Amino acid sequence: MSIKKERVKVAKRAPGTRKKDFKEVSVGYDKKFALEEAKRCLMCPNEPCVEACPVNIDIPLFIKSIIDGNPEEGYNTILMSNALPGVCGRVCPQEDQCAAVCVMGRKFEPVNIGVLERYISDTAVKEGFTAAKSKKSGKYQESVGVVGSGPAGLTIAGDMLKYGYKVTLYEALNEPGGVLRYGIPEFRLPNEVIDREVENLISMGLDLKLNYVIGKILSVEELLERHAALFLGIGAGLPRFMGIPGENLNGVYSANEYLTRNNLMRSYRYPEYNTPIKRGKSVAVVGGGNVAMDSARTAVRLGAEKVYNIYRRSRIEMPARSEETENAVEEGVALHLLRNPVNITGDEGDENKKVKKIRCIKMKLGEPDDSGRRRPLEIPGSEYDIEVDVVVMAIGTGPNRLLLETTPNLELNKWGYIKTDNDTGITGIDNVYAGGDIVTGGATVISAMGAARKAGIAIMSKLENGK
Ligand SMILES: Cc1cc2nc3c(=O)[nH]c(=O)nc-3n(C[C@H](O)[C@H](O)[C@H](O)COP(=O)(O)OP(=O)(O)OC[C@H]3O[C@@H](n4cnc5c(N)ncnc54)[C@H](O)[C@@H]3O)c2cc1C
Repeated sequence: MSIKKERVKVAKRAPGTRKKDFKEVSVGYDKKFALEEAKRCLMCPNEPCVEACPVNIDIPLFIKSIIDGNPEEGYNTILMSNALPGVCGRVCPQEDQCAAVCVMGRKFEPVNIGVLERYISDTAVKEGFTAAKSKKSGKYQESVGVVGSGPAGLTIAGDMLKYGYKVTLYEALNEPGGVLRYGIPEFRLPNEVIDREVENLISMGLDLKLNYVIGKILSVEELLERHAALFLGIGAGLPRFMGIPGENLNGVYSANEYLTRNNLMRSYRYPEYNTPIKRGKSVAVVGGGNVAMDSARTAVRLGAEKVYNIYRRSRIEMPARSEETENAVEEGVALHLLRNPVNITGDEGDENKKVKKIRCIKMKLGEPDDSGRRRPLEIPGSEYDIEVDVVVMAIGTGPNRLLLETTPNLELNKWGYIKTDNDTGITGIDNVYAGGDIVTGGATVISAMGAARKAGIAIMSKLENGK
């Protein structure tokens, strides 16, 4: 039997239609296409893809379930290692992890593992599969507290419930999911997918407490009186700005605020939802990552006629997933590469101080810097202006300070993130563990989940064996 060299194409909604709404862009595979793609898997005995997955999903086994016509078994295979298959099947950067080591990829296109994972999870919803109940030992009576309901918090909550502990999850916002909910727009990750995966955890016994800001309502010290161990998965949601003149003008947003207003508070449906957002005609988004692409594509959907993505390096160095950059370009986002903002200006004498222009300078690439990427250098005298009425800064985030400042014994590194032991996630405080973006700085969904998995194992070992 000959093996198909190319991946089975994934259908997408046409740019002209999809840019008018917030519905999901990628259609995923149906049964026939999923089977065709699944058959491309070589079922390698040494399973490099499993090794490369931070939560070690048994990828060949779930792919085999598609070939065998038994996706329910595949669903339970994935759930054994991953409480968020619908999320990971959509936003996980497989191209840098499992798919990067796929043996098929040495000569041909790697198996499209993520889209197959999504197929299984979507089939589970369509067919009403429920997660197989794991046998709880009944041995563990302790309660574990988790702070933050992003991918790290949800993962450790699921693991501890499976081991048989009682779990209470404290979330500051009014809806669970962390960045999955307030950052990543619905056109990439529909809310119903997050809801479904959180509901699974609630059905396993999760006690979810929303609107619970730890550091304000209760302190870490007080939580330690209620729980035998604590996991901090509070993310890195503090916006960063460039520090250039004009960033305080009316119409300049951090990506965090822009996306939260739209995704969590549904400002695209204002005034039905009571959160306004400035719908710019001409919008500049600064940055080259997924956050920048999500902001630019949100601006398109809010009706902007022109959306400029300003990034100081070239396309190869862009940290955004390449398929998302492609999607953005298809939707009309103009990439202004090798450009950097110098200042933002408003109209002279305008009391409301509204944004009018962003001045950029052209850049060229020099020698590699500490990150290994070529350093962007300004080309003197190359400044030019773009007329804009909204600017979105998507240049990274830092650690949220509230909990850190109210927990004085927590050791932080020089960037203000929590210091932990790499293997266990234990912090400087006894029985307090941490993982995800609050330890590494902004990273990926699956790396946050991997860190949470390690911490869960360490907590169980500590509670059971005292070490
Ligand atoms: C717009 C955007 C797009 C992205 N796209 C991708 C992508 O395509 N693929 C990918 O892999 N990664 C992507 N990422 C990165 C990824 O989402 C993060 O790395 C991941 O969500 C980190 O997970 P976490 O659990 O550590 O933190 P978060 O997801 O940030 O969750 C932290 C949670 O803790 C809560 N919290 C904070 N402080 C407190 C407190 N004091 N008390 C109670 N709760 C608190 C927060 O409200 C939040 O819900 C993206 C990030 C953004 C912002």
